[in-house]
Amino acid sequence: MITGSIKEKFWNIFTSKEEYISDLSDQYGRFNYSFSKNREVFSPVVSEFIFKNGFRPQYPGNADFAVVFSHDVDLIFRNKKIFPGRFQRIALMLKGQQKQPFERIIPKEWDLNNMIEMEMKNKFISTFFFMALAEGDQDYNYEVNEVGNTIQNLLNSGCEIGLHGGHKAYNNIENNLLEKRRLNLVLPTEVKGYRNHYLRFDIQKTFSILLKNGFDYDSTFGYADCVGFRNGMCYPFQPFDLNRNEFIDIIEVPLVVMDVSMFYYMSLSSFQAFQICQRLTEEVKKVNGVLTVLLHNSNFDNKMLDFYNKFVDYIKCENAWFTTTGNLVDWWKGKEYHLQINDIVLQLK
Ligand SMILES: [Zn+2]
Repeated sequence: MITGSIKEKFWNIFTSKEEYISDLSDQYGRFNYSFSKNREVFSPVVSEFIFKNGFRPQYPGNADFAVVFSHDVDLIFRNKKIFPGRFQRIALMLKGQQKQPFERIIPKEWDLNNMIEMEMKNKFISTFFFMALAEGDQDYNYEVNEVGNTIQNLLNSGCEIGLHGGHKAYNNIENNLLEKRRLNLVLPTEVKGYRNHYLRFDIQKTFSILLKNGFDYDSTFGYADCVGFRNGMCYPFQPFDLNRNEFIDIIEVPLVVMDVSMFYYMSLSSFQAFQICQRLTEEVKKVNGVLTVLLHNSNFDNKMLDFYNKFVDYIKCENAWFTTTGNLVDWWKGKEYHLQINDIVLQLK
């Protein structure tokens, strides 16, 4: 029997009530795990409640759970200094150009074609969230029309393309729409999925902006400073808007693991990162949930590669459905699992 106070606790975790009323945020306006009163971040407590109430999602191939790999493409090009010869240097000086010229190169370890190869080898398909910024925007590195061929290669490999919204897209509907339209120009069909850069997110604004701008789903909702379950969920769900007292007609595929959380904020070694991911996988598997993993193409250095190889060797032996976020959302909506979840969580209200 679940008591009234536990119900209230789970409802508050599910709806992220504390984020509506907190005045705490970091320099990017983010609500972090370090601000949260919910310390049970490594257990999907709300999904466990839903599971106990009879919810049993099924997946293609009778898989026990689903795994979604995704990649936020922040960086493609690196500026490399060009060292001109003596005569060119003199010519530059005569032209009054003091500045060392740069050449934009694609470092091998950031190359998305390598990632496609790596994932094909393991029979994964994944979601790539591309930025659609313009020169002068914060963290601008490339333009979408420079990556048209890469995007086509990814689509040909069965991968999905989503929008990686910039610093000003999570709380401004016009900026968000502008970036969406830019990305649409290089896609054969309209972009459906979203994740914001730096996981910037405003619980009172971002969902409704994404809904109005025609996105099907978001996958930003995880903590930047810690891996785990930000609102106790490892099932895709319709968020509940506490201001309007209703569910929002969008699907959130909550983010469980981000590389930056493990290697920067939590300072883990590659083995420690592997251990914590193993534990999170077990938690997800217990309730037939969804494990979402975000790895940046620009972070594939030795430590990350070491973690990636260990984790992939482990997870590919599991009976899991490996797919893209978009495929998962289509499957979820096709089975109307989000509506079943709504009925169960409303018992907590
Ligand atoms: Zn980013």
